[in-house]
Amino acid sequence: MGLRIPCLRCGKFEPECRCEPLPSEPEPPPPPAPVVPAPKARIEVIKMRREKRGGGREVVILEGFPRDVNVEYLARDLKKLLGCGGGVKGWTVEIQGDHRDRIADFLAGRGFKSVRAGG
Ligand SMILES: [Zn+2]
Repeated sequence: MGLRIPCLRCGKFEPECRCEPLPSEPEPPPPPAPVVPAPKARIEVIKMRREKRGGGREVVILEGFPRDVNVEYLARDLKKLLGCGGGVKGWTVEIQGDHRDRIADFLAGRGFKSVRAGG
């Protein structure tokens, strides 16, 4: 035997109550979508060049970053994303492995167009 609670409006119990069911609570409005600022479109085009290194290792060289870009930070984020090694020399970034598709996506997220140069 379950505990019976009388209707809050008419005071009667379940079989005698003829009240219309209460409208359900309106759904709370969904939280606003996080505002992701569109990346500032850059005019510079980053060149992605694949090179072979000793032992058949492939690297992708990224060139063409403007001087206002902190390529150290950019390379760090990119390596974290790809889970690979790499290095920075001046404004040139070298990424180990042929990750050009994902690098292009990453660069697009930073507002950069990219082109594949060489093989
Ligand atoms: Zn009722």
